[in-house]
Amino acid sequence: MRDGGCQCGAVRYRCPNEPLALYACHCSECRKQSGSAFGLSYEVPRAEVALLAGTPRRWSRIADSGRRRDCLFCPDCGTRLWHEGPDSDTITIKAGTLDTPVDLSSAIHIWTKSRLPGVAIPTDARQLPGEPD
Ligand SMILES: [Zn+2]
Ligand SMILES: [Zn+2]
Repeated sequence: MRDGGCQCGAVRYRCPNEPLALYACHCSECRKQSGSAFGLSYEVPRAEVALLAGTPRRWSRIADSGRRRDCLFCPDCGTRLWHEGPDSDTITIKAGTLDTPVDLSSAIHIWTKSRLPGVAIPTDARQLPGEPD
C-alpha cells in the first residue's frame, strides 16, 4: 500500500501500491481542476482505499458521458484528491497527491486531441484522442 494526502496535510489516505491504470488526461476539465497542463488519474478499487485523516469536501459535475463525477478535495487547502462516480467500483486518485512519485512511463495519455501546444507525449506511450472505452 502507499499513502497520500493534500498539500496542508489535513486529509490523508492509503491506497494500493499499483494502480489498475494510470492516465494522463489532456482534457480541458483536467486542465482547469489541476491548474496545469494535464491531470493524472491513478485508478484503484474503491474498496481498497482508506481515509486516514480529515474529511474531504465534495463537488459534483456532469461529465461529457452524462455520468455524475464527484470530485473530492481538502476543505482547508483545496487540493483535489480523487474523483469517483456513484455507480463505479473504482476511484481515480490525483496521482500528484501520492507521497512517493509515480512512474509515468506506463501512463496512458487520453484526450490527446486537446493537449496544450508544446506538451510532448513519449512516442511509445499509449495514446487515445478522446475518452477511453
Ligand atoms: Zn489540505
Ligand atoms: Zn480529463
